[in-house]
Amino acid sequence: MALRKIELLRRCGGHISVVAESLHADVQALLDAGAIDLIAGPYTPELLAEVSLVVAATDDQELNRRAAADCRARRIPVNVVDDPEACSFITPSIVDRSPVLIAISSGGSAPVLARTLRTQLESDIPASYGRLAELAAAYRPRVKTAIPQMSQRRHFWESVFDGAVAEHMFAGRRDLAEEALEAKLADIEAGREVLPGGEVYLVGGGPGDPDLLTFRALRLMQKADVVLYDRLVSREVLDLVRRDAEHINVGKRRSDHTVPQEDINQLLVRLAKEGKRVLRLKGGDPFIFGRGGEEIETLAAAGVPFQVVPGITAASGCAAYAGIPLTHRDHAQSCRFVTGHQKDGELDLNWQELAAPNQTVVFYMGRLSLPIICEQLMAHGLPADYPIALVEEGTRPTQKVICGTLADINGKLDPEEAPRATLVIVGTVVRLRDKLDWFRGKEEV
Ligand code: SAH
Repeated sequence: MALRKIELLRRCGGHISVVAESLHADVQALLDAGAIDLIAGPYTPELLAEVSLVVAATDDQELNRRAAADCRARRIPVNVVDDPEACSFITPSIVDRSPVLIAISSGGSAPVLARTLRTQLESDIPASYGRLAELAAAYRPRVKTAIPQMSQRRHFWESVFDGAVAEHMFAGRRDLAEEALEAKLADIEAGREVLPGGEVYLVGGGPGDPDLLTFRALRLMQKADVVLYDRLVSREVLDLVRRDAEHINVGKRRSDHTVPQEDINQLLVRLAKEGKRVLRLKGGDPFIFGRGGEEIETLAAAGVPFQVVPGITAASGCAAYAGIPLTHRDHAQSCRFVTGHQKDGELDLNWQELAAPNQTVVFYMGRLSLPIICEQLMAHGLPADYPIALVEEGTRPTQKVICGTLADINGKLDPEEAPRATLVIVGTVVRLRDKLDWFRGKEEV
């Protein structure tokens, strides 16, 4: 035990004295080699006068504890082997890629588990990580001067650790790694390379279930410096955004007004111009009733680069999770996505077309307009018993599906209930839900 601790401490460069009446052969060898000192004889508290750290590693628990108590009284950090309670510090399992050091501790509860984890990390992390960190350390001051802005500096280092420099290092070619880093930095210093500026990622976050994100969405979410999100983005999806990113809620109802669209557009431009990677995270798909078009128009006009990442729109997500196919050979040869949002108190839609047979009509933002929708569809020829379904908070654990007819659906709603994101699906495909019986376990009315 003592030997292991000695080896650990030696690596940190401390001056080590061993207090012992007799020595293990390997410890004796260290003594002979001049690596440690020996204080031959029994332990006494007086020995603590000049030390800055103590490890009690005898096989006498009572003695160990006494030594630990003496240390505590003198405020000297003490570790007692195999006795976590008596320790004022512990020595975790470590993966040593100095100067990079990973410490794993189970807080004394399962040291073997910590060691198992260490073995996994040992094989996952290239030995040259340490040398890569040393190289970075040598260049840090210069990079700081050449790239004063912090977010840009972070992007620079990311490209170093993720690109050719790191690859050369992992291949054992420090010379090439240094050359590549030198060239990159010289370009920046001479103004030949324009630093990567800000960018906007317009990302569809899907209807709520985080499993419905695309890989690309997730990748960009983890790169963002700042995220602007609104009400429809679920907590679980938001949790996957890079932790350190600044979070701005632009959907918060301030005295019943969300942040005006024009302000959001301007904010996107401003943040990107500060050199930031701006994530504009939207519910569903950004181009389906998401005002994504308006946002990129402003970005394009301001010369800010952007990417658009599609998401699963509420209609697809809700239909799949509610067991309602949006099209079907025998029922619907087309599917329409329509907004139920009223403008100046009116819902100006082509009802004649929406009431045509053999199609599915999906209303977004249709909850408040539901009475008008049902009334108009019946007035334009659909029968009173025509099927309709509401999917509330689709794809989330709180999803609720309410099925009915144009005549009776309004009566099935609880007027007291706080409004939830609701999708309205009108069409005979709704009837397939019972037949297909895909869907169990979710609450249903
Ligand atoms: N861009 C989004 C739609 C934004 S409009 C998309 O592609 O899904 C907002 C409307 O979307 C809500 O009023 C509601 O009708 C619908 N919606 C979004 N997420 C929903 C969900 N999880 N469950 C039910 N409806 C949802």
